[in-house]
Amino acid sequence: MLFLAHIGITLGAAVLLCDAPSWSYSRRKLPQPCQATSTTSFSQPDCAPDCADDNLSWFNSLARQIDYRLILVGALLPDIIDKPLGTFLFPCFFNSNRIFCHTLLFLVIISSVAVYIFKRQGQTWLIALAFGTFMHLILDGMWLIPKTLLWPAYGWAFGRTDISHWLKNVFYALLTDPYIYLPELVGAIILLGFFVYLARKGKLLLFIKKGTIQS
Ligand SMILES: [Zn+2]
Repeated sequence: MLFLAHIGITLGAAVLLCDAPSWSYSRRKLPQPCQATSTTSFSQPDCAPDCADDNLSWFNSLARQIDYRLILVGALLPDIIDKPLGTFLFPCFFNSNRIFCHTLLFLVIISSVAVYIFKRQGQTWLIALAFGTFMHLILDGMWLIPKTLLWPAYGWAFGRTDISHWLKNVFYALLTDPYIYLPELVGAIILLGFFVYLARKGKLLLFIKKGTIQS
């Protein structure tokens, strides 16, 4: 996939995922009759106890700290690193624009370090990049190129692709291939909806300055 599909669909997935705890929280916070089943002091009330919310508190906390700007960067991170290396700097050596950062190994490393930093320092910046990278590998359909995805399980060489007319082929596919232009259209619609929503809620500046959509 290309630029708009990567950032639009990844952003949409991140917003849905980060909002999921608040949906669940809101449902459980709806007014409910809270009557004890027994008159004994040890009986449990019918309604859910407040401590049940603790199960989602860490994820809710993580979701509120996520910098969506970094998710946008993460959505493009594998291409930002691999395309210059494989296409422009070392085209003869790699002969592919999907190399190190399009591998499962890279995703596992970046995700492990992200969890470590979050647990030790409470910082979420690398989690945002790791999530964007995860979505990038899915949207690129990397399971179709197992030699690259599972590198170096199949040997040290990456799966080779024809990059001789890469840019020209991209433009041609963008105009003629529905597998390319439809996801781009979906990504563009999600981005448009996202920024219109922010503008109407007066949160556009908040997003630009802090990368958050929750004040
Ligand atoms: Zn890619």
